[in-house]
Amino acid sequence: MSSDLVIVYHRQPYEEVEENGQIVLRENKSPNGIVPTLKSFFGRVDNAAWVAWKQAEDPSNPGFERVVEIEDSFGKYTVSRLPLTAEQVSSFYHVTSKEAFWPILHGFKEKYNYDPVDWPTFREVNWAFAEAAAAEAAQGASVWIHDYNLWLVPGYLRKMRPDLRISFFHHTPFPAADMFNVLPWRGEIIDSLLACDVVGFHIPRYAANFVSCVRSLRDVQSVPRTSVDEEFVSEGSALSDRTVPTAIHTEDRVVQLGVTPVGVDTSYINQIATSDATAAQAGEIREELGGAQLVLSVGRTDYTKGGADQLLAFERLLDRRPELAGKLRLLHVSVSANRNMTVYEPIQKELEEIAGRINGRHGTFSSHPVSLISRAIPFERLVSYYQVADVAWITPLADGMNLVCKEFVASRSDDDGVLVLSEFAGAAIQLSSAVLTNPFSNRSMDMAIEQALDMPAEERRARMQALRAAVEKYDTHKWAEEQLALLSPKTFSDAA
Ligand code: UDP
Repeated sequence: MSSDLVIVYHRQPYEEVEENGQIVLRENKSPNGIVPTLKSFFGRVDNAAWVAWKQAEDPSNPGFERVVEIEDSFGKYTVSRLPLTAEQVSSFYHVTSKEAFWPILHGFKEKYNYDPVDWPTFREVNWAFAEAAAAEAAQGASVWIHDYNLWLVPGYLRKMRPDLRISFFHHTPFPAADMFNVLPWRGEIIDSLLACDVVGFHIPRYAANFVSCVRSLRDVQSVPRTSVDEEFVSEGSALSDRTVPTAIHTEDRVVQLGVTPVGVDTSYINQIATSDATAAQAGEIREELGGAQLVLSVGRTDYTKGGADQLLAFERLLDRRPELAGKLRLLHVSVSANRNMTVYEPIQKELEEIAGRINGRHGTFSSHPVSLISRAIPFERLVSYYQVADVAWITPLADGMNLVCKEFVASRSDDDGVLVLSEFAGAAIQLSSAVLTNPFSNRSMDMAIEQALDMPAEERRARMQALRAAVEKYDTHKWAEEQLALLSPKTFSDAA
């Protein structure tokens, strides 16, 4: 019970690898991603802790030390490993979170699967996370909880430790009441979130949606609003709002609403982008292309990412413009999900079927228009593709933020390349200089990709410069600063 900051995140903050028959904990290879961003907070306080789960056959006798002290390039910190059985992990994470919450968060009512949910297990796991956080937190400490699989933690923690400052950040979209209230546990989730001091979201719309859910279920006294900064408005786009709620006043407390769009580490990406190794890889990719234009799409194999709709748009493009045959390639990277999640199998099959059909209809022995990659590409190589791509085609049907589009922009130190971005990605409100498109409209998708492919060099440069300014300004460091301000002025005032 000695940490001033406790981060509660389902994954451990390092990689566990086997070396000579021994499990060793190794710092994550890539500084890219959310885990290193969260770890960067450790440098700000004297004593920090991280709570995550670790699988154990028998949680009462897990066969590993529950609490370990780690020292790596981020500093010294404590990691509390909550032992969970494979059944508990499957139930709370793969079933309740991914099959019930995920579709609702992203607006896919028809994918929502209630039947397999074991709510008592979800409660039990969240309770255990709350207990582990309570055990690490010093008097008056800040506890920072991440994502919907831990929705019930704030409520439990508040009961255990009324002294704590509790902040919860959503890395996903947050839907409005008519979608959220599909969840039969809605009241319990909302009450838990209302036990926070701060509830955080990427963009104003998600905060407004959260207010609509709270209002539908509980008495709310007042909800002050303020104007949205022009930098977070892409005029007329689907997710843009003009005002944003800043707090919810209930009878017994004030819950602050934080809106902080997560960014990418632009200096790290720039370092890779300007390296000799990347230049060499990019050269090889250009050679392979042999003068053809490259359209790049990167995402996970998930129905929210709209992969099939995008491939169909590509097929229509080739049908409309046969002169592009042999002159245009699509690299569609769609990383397959965790083996435990069968819900993604039909999506993978559909992508393979459409990609195969396009290549069958439009390819030749020596050239095929679509390359479908279902494995993760190492980040350094991805940056080479970002650099060579004429168009980054990022068209999710729903996406909390989408970092791929920001990484693409951060990689374009040459100020070239066109970003086509779905207006249903949170990032769209910041990236108004992208070609914004509506993936639910064939016409919009068709127009956007053609506009991108035909865009004059001068316009490409002007748009990319504006995009780079936006991505650089709201990078990971800015997000960290804003989160620090929300977490607790008291915890960080001396160290920051
Ligand atoms: N990514 C990667 N290799 C791949 C595909 C994706 O390293 O082959 C990384 C990508 O660089 C990005 C992340 O995976 O940092 C995806 O984040 P995003 O916010 O775009 O989507 P999410 O998967 O979180 O919904």
